[in-house]
Amino acid sequence: MEIRKELLRQIPKVDEVLARPAVAQLAENGRSAVTQAVRQVTEGLRQGILEGEAPDVSVEQVERLVLAAVEQAGRMSLRPVINATGIVLHTNLGRAVLSHQVAQHVMEVAENYNTLEYSCEAGRRGSRYDHVEQLLCRLTGAEAALVVNNNAAAVMLILGTMAKDRNIIVSRGELVEIGGSFRVPEIMEQSNSTLVEVGTTNKTHPQDYERAIDEQTAALLKVHTSNYKILGFTEEVSTEELVEIGHRRGLPVIYDLGSGALADLDAYGIGSEPTVQQAMASGADVVSFSGDKLLGGPQAGIILGKAGWIAAMKKNPLTRALRIDKLTLAALEATLRIYQEPEQVAKQIPTYQMLSMGLPELKARGRRLLRRLNQVPGLHGTLAEEQGQVGGGSVPTQMIPTWAVAVQHETVSVGEMEKRLRFCRIPVIARVSKDRLLLDMRTTQPEYFDYLARCFAEITGQASPEETE
Ligand SMILES: *Cc1c(COP(=O)(O)O)cnc(C)c1O
Repeated sequence: MEIRKELLRQIPKVDEVLARPAVAQLAENGRSAVTQAVRQVTEGLRQGILEGEAPDVSVEQVERLVLAAVEQAGRMSLRPVINATGIVLHTNLGRAVLSHQVAQHVMEVAENYNTLEYSCEAGRRGSRYDHVEQLLCRLTGAEAALVVNNNAAAVMLILGTMAKDRNIIVSRGELVEIGGSFRVPEIMEQSNSTLVEVGTTNKTHPQDYERAIDEQTAALLKVHTSNYKILGFTEEVSTEELVEIGHRRGLPVIYDLGSGALADLDAYGIGSEPTVQQAMASGADVVSFSGDKLLGGPQAGIILGKAGWIAAMKKNPLTRALRIDKLTLAALEATLRIYQEPEQVAKQIPTYQMLSMGLPELKARGRRLLRRLNQVPGLHGTLAEEQGQVGGGSVPTQMIPTWAVAVQHETVSVGEMEKRLRFCRIPVIARVSKDRLLLDMRTTQPEYFDYLARCFAEITGQASPEETE
């Protein structure tokens, strides 16, 4: 009891903490944030003592806690991290990374007035949808194009325009759920169209579609099962067959392609995803896909198709609610322009730069990091051949061989290192496997190697990770 009272009495006064030179210096460019941090820290100590703890309440310790709290509070919530997981399109880490050039263009548009809905040639109002439509048509062979917020929005707009109050036929093998929030059946409900499921999970035949068609049918839908594969005793109706059936019965065919690769992934030795060009060539009337999966651009939903359908979608009031923002549009146009020169894709689009890295190159990168990390006292790194993933619900069964740096420390556990890395100034997201911390060289960029070495030194040394610079 006495000790508790004594401790409470010893907690430094707010003014005393504010008078410390380091704290006073911080307060010069933000007095209220610092005062708030001091109150928060002293209140935290008080609560701790009342709950029976006996914390260090020296003014030096309070100062340290205040400096850390101010730093923490000043950090952006959405900020860059180092992706050491090897998953190239990591949905939780922002999917596709934009190139510096593309990001530069986004900044230029952001910092200035721009041609978002203005035509300089005509001297009057233009359409935001004009900036990428021609480009998309040239690249894919589509008649017309429209871009919206994301692919989920694209599918909703397509169904709401083409099948409102009517039926859509889809195979049971293609009722996908993506990331827990995009479910084909639920999107259908939202768009006021009714889902007619045909076939079974593993097998759907042409006759299944034929038999389900009636006067309520508005379209046939094909969904690319981008994040899973049904293997074994399976049968699906190809897009070409579906188009043949649909067109014979006077019905359009919609194809939700999901990942939407414009470049042929076969060329990168990582399995085959249908390309957008192939999807268009199959005769589908409307095709949609994401901007931030295998396209390697910003979050967007790209819709390609027959001019009549695209025109109807542009008129749908829903389009206004799902519309794409100017920064996204700037990033999308800059990304699509790279595809005009196919040999530039692997050079300029980070997703393809990473996917196209060969094993020798990855191993050499690993050696360079290893040399730096092995200078950190107590740290032991080795090179390990591992299996990586494309991610982003793309190329589901495909594992891509890769090289990782596997790290262990004499005294700090692998789990503890993994956690502390997440608290560094630029957080490092790593994987733990078989009691080793893995840094996959496919997604870990060399420009961060020095930073990584400093980071490991800090998190395994005496300094607290909050102080990592
Ligand atoms: C990823 C995906 C979606 C959702 O796309 P978002 O751009 O994330 O909204 C829809 N359908 C399929 C088949 C997908 O793979």
